Amino acid sequence: PDPQNPDVTLITPTSPVTTPTHGGRAKCLQRLVRLELPVPRTVALSFDAVHRIAAGEMPDIAALLDGFGETAILCVRPSSGDPDWGGPSAILNIGMNDARRDALAARIGAEAATALYLRFVQAYAVHVARLDPDSFDEIDDAGPAGLAEALRAYEDEAEEPFPQDPVVQLSEVLRSMARAWEGTTARLLRQARGAPADAGLGLVVQEMALGVGPGECGSGVLQLVNSETGQRQITGRYLSQSQGREALQPGTGALYLTRDPRGPSLEEAEPEAFAQIRTYAELMRRKLRAEMQIEFTLEDGRVYILDGMRVARSSRAALRIAVRLAEEGIITRQEAVMRIEPRAITELLHRQIAPGAARDVIGRGIAASPGAATGRIVFTAAEAQASAARGEPCILVRRETSPEDIRGMHAAVGVLTERGGMTSHAAVIGRGLGLPCVVGAARMRFHHKRQQITTPDRRTFRAGDTITIDGTSGEVLLGAPETIEAALDESFQTMMAWADEIRDIGIRANADTPADAATARNFAAQGIGLCRTEHMFFEADRITPMREMIFADTAEDRQAALALLLPMQRADFTELFRIMEGLPVCIRLFDPPLHEFLPTDRAGLRDLAEALDLPVSDVTRRVEAMGEYNPMLGLRGVRLGITLPEIYDMQARAIFEATLDASREGAPVVPEIMLPLVSARREVEMVRNRIDAVAAAVRNERKQGFTYRLGVMVETPRACLRADEIAPYTQFLSFGTNDLTQMTYGLSRDDAGRFMSDYVQQGVFSEDPFHVLDTDGVGELVALGVERGRHSHPGVTLSICGEHGGNPESIAFCRAVGMDYVSCSPFRVPVARLAAAQLAL
Ligand code: PEP
Ligand code: MG
Repeated sequence: PDPQNPDVTLITPTSPVTTPTHGGRAKCLQRLVRLELPVPRTVALSFDAVHRIAAGEMPDIAALLDGFGETAILCVRPSSGDPDWGGPSAILNIGMNDARRDALAARIGAEAATALYLRFVQAYAVHVARLDPDSFDEIDDAGPAGLAEALRAYEDEAEEPFPQDPVVQLSEVLRSMARAWEGTTARLLRQARGAPADAGLGLVVQEMALGVGPGECGSGVLQLVNSETGQRQITGRYLSQSQGREALQPGTGALYLTRDPRGPSLEEAEPEAFAQIRTYAELMRRKLRAEMQIEFTLEDGRVYILDGMRVARSSRAALRIAVRLAEEGIITRQEAVMRIEPRAITELLHRQIAPGAARDVIGRGIAASPGAATGRIVFTAAEAQASAARGEPCILVRRETSPEDIRGMHAAVGVLTERGGMTSHAAVIGRGLGLPCVVGAARMRFHHKRQQITTPDRRTFRAGDTITIDGTSGEVLLGAPETIEAALDESFQTMMAWADEIRDIGIRANADTPADAATARNFAAQGIGLCRTEHMFFEADRITPMREMIFADTAEDRQAALALLLPMQRADFTELFRIMEGLPVCIRLFDPPLHEFLPTDRAGLRDLAEALDLPVSDVTRRVEAMGEYNPMLGLRGVRLGITLPEIYDMQARAIFEATLDASREGAPVVPEIMLPLVSARREVEMVRNRIDAVAAAVRNERKQGFTYRLGVMVETPRACLRADEIAPYTQFLSFGTNDLTQMTYGLSRDDAGRFMSDYVQQGVFSEDPFHVLDTDGVGELVALGVERGRHSHPGVTLSICGEHGGNPESIAFCRAVGMDYVSCSPFRVPVARLAAAQLAL
């Protein structure tokens, strides 16, 4: 080949080979050639050349072959832009024909030469001439009789003799591989793996080291790390008298590489060759700056290196590998940070289904909170608690969850719901607790009365049956597949520390309970960005005073009930402040509609009637009267603060008293108080006046000073638009993109799960906007809010606390508009830290 012609170029240290023009394999081979490894002669065909071959324009194959010499046997392998995109399988032993079989017989023996020829005929017939595989795959005799049978079958089916001319053979191989790449199925497959529509294919034509013949011949692969754990460990396989990747096929009797109790190893059989391969692998690792799998062949004891590939790796192995390469100075810390896909971090934080485990999938839903959990099916929160009390792990199966299920969720190891999306109650709570959760499994039928679920393939399971949910993939599995533990090891901590050095946006956690706060600390969140206080009122000892408060007719009665709640709230906040040790804690005042706290069933109504000493009919009427047609847009959020101000008064007092209590014991606390669902300046002004008054009263009573910061949740479109007049009344604005998405789209966060997958599948929305922030629409409102808020109050702190705060793409948006921090579920904090670091690089 013409060294100046990049389309068909011999790979030398200086030939013009690049990944974008010739593919990753060609580029890697060139690197190996530069390292002076014993790579057999290789010619690379560029994407353009291969594209032209597919269109019928063949380069000068005779000239190409000339360079290899008269008796060379060749192989052709694909070289695409990314190994994950797949490609046609390699074809080996090109050039074998009657004459070469005879010539080779003298060198490697008749048996080996015949076997190679037969293999080529088989591969050519099936993959190149595309003849019926049945006629060729079942030839058992590897000797002359088998070869004769294959040649005869070829001639019968192809209606011409097997081509003897290497020029014809190679041309046809190249043509078939080029065409296979351009076929529609192959294109769709690789696009599904992330390849662009016009992804090109390069091909490499390489002289073969035969791997069969006299002396020690064979082939194998070697790598220096374990693909699952990332630990240093020489692994791989070697098979005498073999070619290609045969050593990797199970049941071949391949050798392990290092001394192995199970039998002989390459290290023992061929210590010199082994040492040489190992040295090459170390060299590749250092110079290619990655853990590589090396593909080698021995020919009469001589080592040839055919190829190198990045080692396949699990997420935990990827992390260990990147950290070790950086610690050894082979790559920089920045590069190590860039090499880890932030989402992959999620896998490390939770128990996972083991990669090789058998999966009997009985249903699918939205992967709402990652991790795998196995337990017996229970259908109510009470059963979940009973099950936990017996020490039996359980999966809480509900049509959807409501605040009443919270204690059942605490007791369960996982949650499965029929309805709901990424921001439904079960999903939000599940992520907060680190509890695996699959929601919106709409094709499974949930019969709560009969205590059964029926799967799409009509299998029925009952309470007590064991299932596993995979909140990482959204699958529901039968039984208990093998799982692996979370991996928060030293490499994880190191990587996170490097990410923190690099990133330039703060990361806080959404945490409601001491357990959440502890998780947030554990993952090095820089504070709590959202504490949803309503979850604190569902505890058994609180729900009754809460209901009494709701039923109170006068402000005095309301205050009396709230007085019972005050010490409990104070204890909640003191505990949070204590755990966070002076880090900022942003407490959102009560948000949900009050009737969520009222019973819905007959038994609950009766209990309440007893507690209140009222007739059931009375209670029922009052509960019904409080119902709203559209509670998410009804009496909730700051609207409660305006109409029933005693609730916020109580919460503010609890926060301030806790502030003083916690500051006495530890680091001084400056609490942040946040008002939900604001839509008008006046709301802020009025509530602020009352909170200031409470602060003054507490200072006065306790004879101690403290400060606090007041902020507004920007989660209605109007609050975004009017951020300029709201910001001067606050110290911070935090964008609640869950409600903001709901209100901007007019899309119910609790119901959209039912049709969201249809919308996404049909491409109406490119993503679920509750999952990935809609930067075009919702994002425009956020950007307006940021700009207007900053304009009227330059020092205002800006952040996001909707679920999007943990999504890498959404973090990019928040950083770009100039937010100070993002706040997300505690278990997403590490993902956010890494994603934020990558954005800063
Ligand atoms: C929001 O609306 O984005 C938010 C964080 O509040 P919640 O999810 O509690 O409504
Ligand atoms: Mg909200």
